Amino acid sequence: MSAVAQATAGDAYSIASRLEAGLKGAPRGLLIDGKSVQAVSGKTFATLNPATGKEICQVAEGGAADVDLAVQAARRALTNPAWCNMSAVDRSLVLNRLADLIERDAQELAVLECIDNGKPATLTKVVEIEGSIKTFRYFAGWPTKFGGETLPVSPRSGAKILNYTVREPVGVCGLIVPWNYPMSMAAWKVAPALAAGCTVVLKPAEQTPLTALRLAELALEAGIPAGVFNVITGFGEAGAALVDHPGVDKVAFTGSTEVGKAIVRGSTGNLKKVSLELGGKSPQIVLPDADLDAAAASIAAGIFFNQGQTCTAGSRLYAHASIHDDLLGRIADHAAKLTIGNGLDPSVNFGPLVSEEQWDRVSSYVEIGQREGAELVCGGARPNGLGDGFFFQPTILANAGRDMRIVREEIFGPVLSALSWSDPEDLVAQANDSDFGLSAGIWTNDLKQAHRLAGAVKAGTVWVNCFNLVDNATPFGGFKQSGWGREHGRQAMELYSEVKSIWVNLS
Ligand code: NDP
Repeated sequence: MSAVAQATAGDAYSIASRLEAGLKGAPRGLLIDGKSVQAVSGKTFATLNPATGKEICQVAEGGAADVDLAVQAARRALTNPAWCNMSAVDRSLVLNRLADLIERDAQELAVLECIDNGKPATLTKVVEIEGSIKTFRYFAGWPTKFGGETLPVSPRSGAKILNYTVREPVGVCGLIVPWNYPMSMAAWKVAPALAAGCTVVLKPAEQTPLTALRLAELALEAGIPAGVFNVITGFGEAGAALVDHPGVDKVAFTGSTEVGKAIVRGSTGNLKKVSLELGGKSPQIVLPDADLDAAAASIAAGIFFNQGQTCTAGSRLYAHASIHDDLLGRIADHAAKLTIGNGLDPSVNFGPLVSEEQWDRVSSYVEIGQREGAELVCGGARPNGLGDGFFFQPTILANAGRDMRIVREEIFGPVLSALSWSDPEDLVAQANDSDFGLSAGIWTNDLKQAHRLAGAVKAGTVWVNCFNLVDNATPFGGFKQSGWGREHGRQAMELYSEVKSIWVNLS
């Protein structure tokens, strides 16, 4: 992949003004059957720039009637010969072409995501845009490699049988994504679904609808037939209508555990296949022999990156008592060095939270933590001088206790809850004493301890002396209430396909 050029401050601000000017006027429509259309109800809603609190534009508010039209279009597209008979090589080419177009428009997409979501444009470019390009290129490699097997069956009759399996697309997929990584979460689902030959209806979060619409337009330009990739913008009701719809064969969801449970309940009508990537409360476990410089830098990044709005955020710190104070001081130093502000400024590496609602939620947890006995080490409030944006300082709460809400619940903001430990057996019990099991970090130079802990921690991903590394090649997902199924890798292709076993009597 060629490097995506970095924007200068002037560039990002001027691209943002041009984009915002272009978005004024008619509301952004839904994308159904290759066309931009307004909602059947005519309703629209505002999407805001979290750095200013101001409206960017109006967006169509899709409801059940629109979901129905999108699902019908996706069902038709499933049997459109231009899609279902597309060769594996051509499917691969079309996904690579989509990656090329994202690369062509990388600068604009990064700024669009920055103004809609708040995260700094420089980070957006790397995480959301380059990440999505990689995702489409990775899954573009699968259509030519994803097949069945021939199996050595032993029928009682002694008949000579050829048994083989084939993979078929699971069908129409409802993809429901959150606001924290809008474009990459969409790519993580759209890319394997299309690689497997499915058709999709994507429901982006109400806070961040803009890049999803643009992605679907680029898919059309890439040559993906109309109706294969539809987008319904709107609220949770639109997501619920998708989950309820009998024409949807599978739902893939990333978001809160609470909504994940509602999706499981709502999907029973036609027993849709469901995959869920839900919340987390990931422990960062630091042993006394750890490299504290490296650990502090990575633990700070692990909780403050994307303003803590990351499902894998390392939000529970378990530092050995002998190094606890030293480590906390170093993490606080990293927090103090973050540059908070409007993400269009390339020197900014810490933007606003996504919405006022999220600001209130994070702030309330800081209050709850202190009320329950935790001690505020740094942050905890709105930084001065940044206007009406939804900014919240990087925050550390020390002396956290295992039963405190700040240790048990997903805050989804830049708040680290720190605990100290001295009994290794109790450490594992504490780290696993959570409803979640998405990820964990382990910091030690003792190889034996690293492997012992990696085996003992109940989490879908374990990072040893690193944190938050994600790659399309390796499975991603959670134990316990952090979800069902794994995204990325072969596992993702399996999520979007059915296996058929075929028996041929050769006797
Ligand atoms: P939600 O889980 O509510 O939203 C995620 C997506 O689901 C959005 O597109 C949302 O639409 C949609 N949705 C909401 N209700 C339903 C429903 N009943 N059926 C189908 N789809 C639905 O997350 P929130 O945005 O409300 O954030 C709340 C909390 O969830 C955060 O504070 C955080 O703790 C957690 N969260 C976790 C994420 C993760 O990656 N683990 C990601 C995002 C949030 P709409 O946007 O309109 O509500």
